[in-house]
Amino acid sequence: MTQFTPAKRLRDVRIRIASAAATAARNPASVCLLAVSKTFPADAVAELAACGQVDFGENYVQEGVGKIAVLRATHPRLCWHFIGPLQSNKTREVATHFDWVHSVDRVHVAQRLSGQRPVTRDGQALAPLQICLQVNVSGEASKSGIPPQAVEDLAKAVIALPNLRLRGLMCIPAPNDDLHAQRAPFAHLRSLMEALNRKGFALDTLSMGMSADLEAAVHEGATIVRVGTALFGVRSKAVGRGQG
Ligand SMILES: *Cc1c(COP(=O)(O)O)cnc(C)c1O
Repeated sequence: MTQFTPAKRLRDVRIRIASAAATAARNPASVCLLAVSKTFPADAVAELAACGQVDFGENYVQEGVGKIAVLRATHPRLCWHFIGPLQSNKTREVATHFDWVHSVDRVHVAQRLSGQRPVTRDGQALAPLQICLQVNVSGEASKSGIPPQAVEDLAKAVIALPNLRLRGLMCIPAPNDDLHAQRAPFAHLRSLMEALNRKGFALDTLSMGMSADLEAAVHEGATIVRVGTALFGVRSKAVGRGQG
């Protein structure tokens, strides 16, 4: 029996991030840890939040919105990131309840998110929705995300939308056990962001790296690593499926 020991898992992941950052001569504080809580209950989020974790990522709209509703009153300062595939009929719930969306890959979805983003929540001004564009940097191996050559056009469309703030790029490369092979797609994503910034964009976010490849991602400049398994344990496959 493995026990869920949130404090220890969080400490272990932070140590991994810090040592990768040290090797890459980066400040560990420049890497945000996003705890991917999909399939785990609100209680598990609350336990990690009690250890100081602030950013949480969800893949499924209904599941994520449910947890946010449970936790909003007791944990108003948590920051919620939507990181899963997003269908246009679910944009309103995401625009209403989340703070970030990492997985924008269509103008139509971006337009709906902007149009549906409320300007206040609980009587307080609400920041624009923070956006990353999901890029398919491993060719056929991955089905989601825009091809690299389409990034600039989508970025132009997104910065024109009033209630979104374009922050950067996200990728989910095909799994690979070799550290050097892991680094190639992350380096590619970074070079895409640098190319956009040379053209006048002001992007500051690379959302890349998960439990199995966060070191490679930190080496290549990740500013957000999205970690699920290493924090919450192995997910049971049946849970959360098909909730898009
Ligand atoms: C599930 C998921 C993660 C976390 O993956 P782990 O391997 O469990 O760390 C990160 N990003 C996205 C988009 C995911 O769907």
